[in-house]
Amino acid sequence: MSTTNLLEFDRDGLADFCARLGEKRFRATQLFRWIHQRGASDFDAMSDLARALRDKLKGCARVQAPPVISGQASADGSVKWLFDVGAGNAVEAVFIPEEDRGTLCVSSQAGCAVGCRFCSTGHQGFSRNLSSGEIIAQLWFAEHALRRRLKTEDRVISNLVMMGMGEPLQNLAALLPALRVMLDDHGYGLSRRRVTVSTSGVVPMIDRLARDCPVALAVSLHAPNDALRDQLVPLNRKYPIDELLQACKRYLAHAPRDFITFEYCMLDGVNDQIGHARQLVELVGRAGIRCKFNLIPFNPFPASGLLRSAHNQILAFAQVLGAAGIVTTVRKTRGDDIAAACGQLAGDVRDRTRVAERMAKQRTMQLQLQLNSSRRAEPSAAEVIGCGESI
Ligand code: SAH
Ligand code: SF4
Repeated sequence: MSTTNLLEFDRDGLADFCARLGEKRFRATQLFRWIHQRGASDFDAMSDLARALRDKLKGCARVQAPPVISGQASADGSVKWLFDVGAGNAVEAVFIPEEDRGTLCVSSQAGCAVGCRFCSTGHQGFSRNLSSGEIIAQLWFAEHALRRRLKTEDRVISNLVMMGMGEPLQNLAALLPALRVMLDDHGYGLSRRRVTVSTSGVVPMIDRLARDCPVALAVSLHAPNDALRDQLVPLNRKYPIDELLQACKRYLAHAPRDFITFEYCMLDGVNDQIGHARQLVELVGRAGIRCKFNLIPFNPFPASGLLRSAHNQILAFAQVLGAAGIVTTVRKTRGDDIAAACGQLAGDVRDRTRVAERMAKQRTMQLQLQLNSSRRAEPSAAEVIGCGESI
């Protein structure tokens, strides 16, 4: 019998599920806390739930992240997990520790339909939307694997950015419940300011996000005019810069922060000239948008045919923006040794044969584990990968 994966639900959804089982809705809060705050997947371990409810749950529900194909740690402390979401598709999540925070970068789709020229995910094409459960599973798995690894019961992930694979605003229906779990005090309790959705500019969905779950917004601008942006971010042909900036302005009325972050990928000789920086200053000034700029040194991959801007060029570009009073940062590239940087995620997933081989190997490992395990027939993803201990 197929069971329902409880990671698919926000707290309201879980309450509906409990009600369908003939249970009181408030039971959902207890269950939700076991799952998200304690990382539990074994109903028997949920000791303060009535035995009858635990037995019911065992018959019809499960708590399960997609199988983890690999977990890799970078010399700089970043950790990247590759999840198998079926049919030869894999998505990634990356943890980036910093002195004052721990950020998890999460994927929203397998592949992406927007097809930006400088993005390895875009070059893969679109496979499918992730479900809410597959989105939140990345946080569920990473948070509890990191706690076990660091031997702490304290929260490790303090910030979350939807900057992994995929365009989150082309999968808003699944994104919204996942965001609610992230923000829920009985879930991860992240503040709205510390959850960032990054978009290439799906204008109507920016308005929907403002209405339904306003969190911090980052917009991938990458060009100061439509002619160039049309080339780099094909979605611009549908929602040109002026419309996008108007949507950003409307968003600010609801946003938890009083600025929009514009991301700008620095491409050598393409969008990195001083003239481009001056156009940007004029553009955001004219639109009257409170904003910050985050310049991202391009992370090259072979099929792009593009190069990263020289460091001095990036600094000179930043200086023009800074001189105009726009707070500008240059993103540090992290996890270089494990290809965990923006736009490089699952770079080798395009090579389906290699992924298929890795998945087959993983399945063999799982099988061996099952045969060796007298405790349970089905090892959880956490056990298979060793909860990060192997990384
Ligand atoms: N689809 C969303 C979120 C995922 S991409 C978006 O486009 O905003 C997250 C960020 O990484 C975006 O700003 C994107 O433009 C940037 N990016 C993509 N490929 C990159 C690359 N090769 N080098 C540097 N940044 C890249
Ligand atoms: Fe999709 Fe974002 Fe990559 Fe563009 S940059 S192809 S929107 S994931």
